[in-house]
Amino acid sequence: EQLDQGLEKSKSSFFSKFNKAIAGKSKVDDDVLDNLEEVLVTSDVGVETTLKVIERIEARVARDKYLGTQELNQILREEIAALLSETNSGDATDFSINSVHKPYVIMVVGVNGVGKTTTIGKLAYQFKKQGYSVVLGAADTFRAAAIDQLQIWADRVGVPIVKQYMGSDPASVAFDTLQSAVNQNADVVIIDTAGRLHNKVNLMNELTKIKRVMQKVVPDAPQEVLLVLDGSTGQNAFEQAKHFTAATEVNALAVTKLDGTAKGGVVIGISDQFQIPVKYIGVGEGIEQLQVFNKFEFVDSFFK
Ligand code: GDP
Repeated sequence: EQLDQGLEKSKSSFFSKFNKAIAGKSKVDDDVLDNLEEVLVTSDVGVETTLKVIERIEARVARDKYLGTQELNQILREEIAALLSETNSGDATDFSINSVHKPYVIMVVGVNGVGKTTTIGKLAYQFKKQGYSVVLGAADTFRAAAIDQLQIWADRVGVPIVKQYMGSDPASVAFDTLQSAVNQNADVVIIDTAGRLHNKVNLMNELTKIKRVMQKVVPDAPQEVLLVLDGSTGQNAFEQAKHFTAATEVNALAVTKLDGTAKGGVVIGISDQFQIPVKYIGVGEGIEQLQVFNKFEFVDSFFK
C-alpha cells in the first residue's frame, strides 16, 4: 500500500508510457520493440540494461514465432525481476540483520543532497524499533551542517552519536565510533561519510583510510558499504554509482526519493549494471518512509 502510494508517479508514468507503446498493436513487432526501448530509456533504466531487456524479448519472439502484446506485460515483468537481486527476506518492513557480526557496521556513502543523512536517520529508527542498539558516527566532517543534521536525527530517534568537530579526521571519528560501540556492546553502527566528488583519488583515499582504521577495532568492518542514490536524478545517479564503486567496494544500494520521480527505472539499471543489490528505497521524507526493497512489489508497482 505504502509502496504503491510512494511509487505513484513512477508507476503511472511508466505504465502509461508502456500502454502507449503497445496501443493498437496485438503482436510484438519491431515497432513495438522500438517503442518499448524508448519507454525504458526515458524511464531511466539506462541504455545498457534497456538493450539487454529488448534482446531477451527479441529472443523470445524469435523462439515462439509470435508474441502478443497482452503477454508482453508479464514477460517484461519477469525479465525486469530477473535483473534485480535481493539481499533480504523481501518483507518491506523487515529490517532485521541476519548477521553473526556484532557490531554490524554500515558505512554510508553518497554525494550531498541525495538523502544520505535522512536515510541514516530512518535506518537508525527501524533498527531501534527491531530492538537493536544503534550508534551513529558523524564522519562527514567536511561540513558542519552534516554533523548538526546527524545530531538532530540521533536526538529524534534516541540513539547515541559519536562526533568530533568540523575538519577533524573522518577516520578518527569512525575509530572512536566503533570503539564506543564495542564498549557499549552495540548491535549496529552507522557511519556517515563525506560525499565530495571533486577528486576521485581523494575520495578513494579517504574511504580506504576510514575502513583501515575501523578494522583496527572490528577486523571485518564494514560489513556493509551502502551507497545512497537519488532515484530522481537519472543519469547523475549512474555517474555517481560509477564513481563510488570505483572508489570503494559498495555492496548495497539505497535509492531515495522514489516518491518524487516520474521515472524510477534507475533502480533497475543501476542494480543490473553494477551488479549491486538494492537494499532500501526511500519513498518520502518521513521517518517511516524507508522500505526494505522487494523486487516483486517494485516491479508490480510499475505495472499497476
Ligand atoms: P544528504 O545531504 O545526502 O545528507 O541529504 P539529506 O538527508 O539532508 O536530504 C536532502 C533532502 O532530501 C531533504 O530535504 C530530505 O528530506 C529529502 N529526502 C531524503 N530522502 C527522501 C525521500 O525518500 N523522499 C523525498 N521526497 N525526500 C527525501
